Amino acid sequence: MTQEELNPFVMAQKQLDIAAEIMQLEPAVHELLRWPVRELHVTLPVRMDDGSTEIFHGFRVQYNDSRGPTKGGLRFHPHETIDTVRALAAWMTWKTAVMDIPLGGGKGGIICNPKAMSPGELERLSRAYIRQVGRILGEDMDVPAPDVYTTPQIMAWMMDEYAVMRGHNVPGMITGKPLPLGGSAGRSDATARGGMYCIREAAKKLAIDTHAATMAVQGFGNAGQYAATLGASLLGIKTVAVSDSQGGIYNPHGLDGKAVIAHKHDTGSVINFSEADNLTNAELLELKVDILTPAALESQITAENADRIKARIIAELANGPTTVDADEVLHDNGSYVLPDFLCNAGGVTVSYFEQVQNAYGYYWKEAQVHELLDEKMTAAFHSVAQAAEKYGVDNRMAAYIVAVGRVAEACKLRGWV
Ligand code: NAD
Repeated sequence: MTQEELNPFVMAQKQLDIAAEIMQLEPAVHELLRWPVRELHVTLPVRMDDGSTEIFHGFRVQYNDSRGPTKGGLRFHPHETIDTVRALAAWMTWKTAVMDIPLGGGKGGIICNPKAMSPGELERLSRAYIRQVGRILGEDMDVPAPDVYTTPQIMAWMMDEYAVMRGHNVPGMITGKPLPLGGSAGRSDATARGGMYCIREAAKKLAIDTHAATMAVQGFGNAGQYAATLGASLLGIKTVAVSDSQGGIYNPHGLDGKAVIAHKHDTGSVINFSEADNLTNAELLELKVDILTPAALESQITAENADRIKARIIAELANGPTTVDADEVLHDNGSYVLPDFLCNAGGVTVSYFEQVQNAYGYYWKEAQVHELLDEKMTAAFHSVAQAAEKYGVDNRMAAYIVAVGRVAEACKLRGWV
């Protein structure tokens, strides 16, 4: 692939172009949705611990706010680029729309290496970002959240700096906050839990009994660990293989998720777990299981290995684990793909619940969060499944059609196009 084709924003525009053609979107609507409506580039001087001043660059992209305030994570990454942020902001727009939550899509980023910065330097950088970007943020404008290398603590500093700017507390201007500062119950496992609700609905549709089903999980971090434990507790799924960056483990009789988490905690990896055999990440993807849950990185299922994937359901908790050419192969081979911006939307949905609770100043119990998340995920799954049947397309394109249709409708109702 050329550099141009690898550019994530070019990819995001191409995916939209395909959906626009199938939907016969009007040219002006299509062109409007190909671009962010607004973006801010900022330059941030930060005093470092050694007394020097370093200059950082950051972005905030508000892709489309026709359905509500923009919402999306904030990344601290040495290789951050404006086009990555634009692409992620576009995908957030489709994600909030497919979930039918009254928000648009946005994303932010700062070019920095947080691993080489002290907590004090990170705090000063976070506050400097809000002093510049705060002018376009707010509970009714644009609401950031944690993402790659940003944490609840960073959200707390940002919320505090914003309160200083405004002269009063505005907890709903950012989500993913620590619980004592207005975070929501049920946020930590929300992504995996939402994915499990999707798997449950897909299994019903495909007449798969989850209590007799096996699952392999690639990536054993936040999303992957909860996928293994919630898969068992909610749906009776037997997780037979899991992996991390060092490799994977396999036991055809099932793995005890909690014991593997303890082993990873003690040793730093899942590998060499006493009650399983080691296997490679490539082997894990190709296991004969009912459900494959990629929960690590992008571009793991490619044209090279797609033909050897045997799972009936592929539940994409990771963002972008399947390449475009692999998608076609999976579809032809009868795999049922739960596309990322549907399958992993539980996180943003509970972030939205956090905003709602902040606005009310009243906090829900965890069980209530679970119930409302289930309702939202189930409705989103069925709207995508229906669109797949109506248009004769795979689930990923169906999710685009549902999401783009909702955003286009909002733009038209507002009289923008
Ligand atoms: P994480 O950092 O907690 O975990 C990532 C895991 O992947 C780690 O166990 C790591 O060892 C493993 N890994 C890294 N390289 C690997 C490789 N080559 N092969 C196998 N495993 C590898 O991250 P996370 O929050 O669990 O996110 C995982 C994926 O889910 C990402 O794509 C993320 O964008 C997506 N996601 C997460 C959330 C969320 O709320 N956590 C929400 C939406 C999407």
